[in-house]
Amino acid sequence: MPDLPRIGERLFRGITVSDGICRGRIVVLGRPSGTVPRREIALAEVPGEIARFEQAIIQTRREVQEVHRHVTTQLGMKEAGIFDAHLLVLDDPVLLGEITRLVREEHVGAEFACHTVAVNYVAAFSQVQDDFLRERVADIRDVTSRLLNHLLGRRDEVDVRTLTEPCLIVAHDLSPSTTAQLNKQIVLGFATDIGGKTSHTAIMARSLGIPAVVGLHTASQVLHAGDYVLLDGYSGVLILNPTDQTLFEYGQLVRQKATLEETFLEVHDLHAVTLDGRRVTLSANIEHPQDTAAVVACGAEGVGLFRTEYLFIERTSLPTEEEQFAAYRAVAVACRPQPVIIRTLDLGGDKFLSHLQVAPEMNPFLGWRAIRFCLEQKDIFRTQLRAILRASVEGNVRMMYPMISGLDELTRANAFLEQCRDELHQEGVPCNDALPIGAMIETPSAALVAVALAKRLAFFSIGSNDLIQYTLAADRTNDRVAHLYEPTHPAIVRLIRMTVEAAHQHGIWVGVCGEVASDPALVPLLLGLGVDELSVAPSLLPHIKFLIRRLEQGDLQTLAAFALSAESGAEILARTTALARAAAPSLFETSA
Ligand code: PEP
Ligand code: MG
Repeated sequence: MPDLPRIGERLFRGITVSDGICRGRIVVLGRPSGTVPRREIALAEVPGEIARFEQAIIQTRREVQEVHRHVTTQLGMKEAGIFDAHLLVLDDPVLLGEITRLVREEHVGAEFACHTVAVNYVAAFSQVQDDFLRERVADIRDVTSRLLNHLLGRRDEVDVRTLTEPCLIVAHDLSPSTTAQLNKQIVLGFATDIGGKTSHTAIMARSLGIPAVVGLHTASQVLHAGDYVLLDGYSGVLILNPTDQTLFEYGQLVRQKATLEETFLEVHDLHAVTLDGRRVTLSANIEHPQDTAAVVACGAEGVGLFRTEYLFIERTSLPTEEEQFAAYRAVAVACRPQPVIIRTLDLGGDKFLSHLQVAPEMNPFLGWRAIRFCLEQKDIFRTQLRAILRASVEGNVRMMYPMISGLDELTRANAFLEQCRDELHQEGVPCNDALPIGAMIETPSAALVAVALAKRLAFFSIGSNDLIQYTLAADRTNDRVAHLYEPTHPAIVRLIRMTVEAAHQHGIWVGVCGEVASDPALVPLLLGLGVDELSVAPSLLPHIKFLIRRLEQGDLQTLAAFALSAESGAEILARTTALARAAAPSLFETSA
């Protein structure tokens, strides 16, 4: 792989998505592994094999030029110099000639020839005394591994489940399903080149409680497996080769945070009540039934969002009704008598199932996702609704639909729910006939027709992650438009307020289960706008409770009045942050 100057501290700045500090050696996902088998070829196949090798050279050259361009823009010409060296390797007649000679004379596949020559070169160069030649080893390794990728058509995935030593992961991107497989005892944190604060990968990091930074642009290209780094999830930076001074300063920050965590214990058994007595419901978001332990431990008042799609993602076939029933029941029983809001399947967007044949879409977030998918995939929906209905007698279960964009979808979903309930009745299976049904308000259209929805529902839960991306037309997973993804944009403030007014007018409560609810700076604004419940990552719940107990309703109302008349999202952000910071300064300390 490309080499940065390997000494001295270097800082990469990205977007913070999950708090915390960790340090250690990195594993870079997307590197080759394994052996290359010797494939004998017939004499007649030699020209075709050499043409295949030449094609791989062209593809590799294109790839390296692309990385070169990228690194030049992001880090400058000097850093991109290593890729010039890679291009020289790709033009080296001796190396390439040796590979084609093996194909011609030994009648072996190009990949075996490439691998053999690479191994020999690396072994020979590693022995020599000349520093310049020794440094070429990394270049040859990198270039030949790229060539092998093309020849073998492989994508170099490390299976994260096979990692055994504590490490940090650096990757171009991580899918939500890979993230869901991370073992937090082994993977201390992760950093990716791309991604946004509310991508499902980021949400998984918070749920795992491990530090994560995204949007580092070129980290996976310029860092090596085995590099020693410090990842600062509070400020969104990755530091390569941290100096002793840096490690010392971060050690102090870690101790400060540990002291803060201890103060949270004081509020563990208390309610989230403002200084002047306004009671706020604080629930937790979960992705797996086993997360329930964290819900109980953090002192949440139940589950405000159970993202059921993770029951579907981490497997090779659809979960049966029995399996789903067992999962929903387990959560309901563990949280009883506290409520558990089960959200029906929200597949699509950035969450896919490899085993479901869904055609790729140009705009997956605007496509066949969530309730749209379920209303057409009736068998999948029926299985889930039956499992939820059956679990509804086992605890304080509530259910909500994702991505409702208007009344029609709600009416169709409810009609289908009734049908499933009737079937269960006929089979003599008990279910709660008064199961409270809610909807996520996560499309601007839902917020705008909230009155019609409120008349027919028991509650709303604002999905700010999507509401923001759909309102501002800014993909939540794309770091390039992260600056446009503005939770305090006046349009968002008004849509939240409209939702709250519609709900309260019809006597129903409103929660927020998107990531804004876990952000202490934004909590005053949400509460000022009249939100009744916040559902947050269990690891962050104590922070939010700690803050709410230091706020005053009068200040929140003043803030909301300001926000509703403001024209600038930045001003609103500054006001709500100032209020939160004044109430609980320790929550905002990100340096020692
Ligand atoms: C949201 O959109 O805010 C939400 C909670 O749903 P998800 O993040 O799963 O899309
Ligand atoms: Mg959503």
